[in-house]
Amino acid sequence: MQNAKKRICGRCGSSNLISDRSLGGKIVCVKCGSSFIKTKGLINSSNRNFYYLLLILFIIFFVILF
Ligand SMILES: [Zn+2]
Repeated sequence: MQNAKKRICGRCGSSNLISDRSLGGKIVCVKCGSSFIKTKGLINSSNRNFYYLLLILFIIFFVILF
């Protein structure tokens, strides 16, 4: 197991990646076959933004209700 910067698929977000030998060792997604790979660090920051947005929406919803 390699713990150095986990990579995930940039299209579907799956962490099921394989290095395809026919493509010269290029990493592709098992799920959708995309070769657009992101590092997990990038996803984490966008996930944080997403939760922040969700929190704002929740607060707005809460304000409307009361
Ligand atoms: Zn994928």
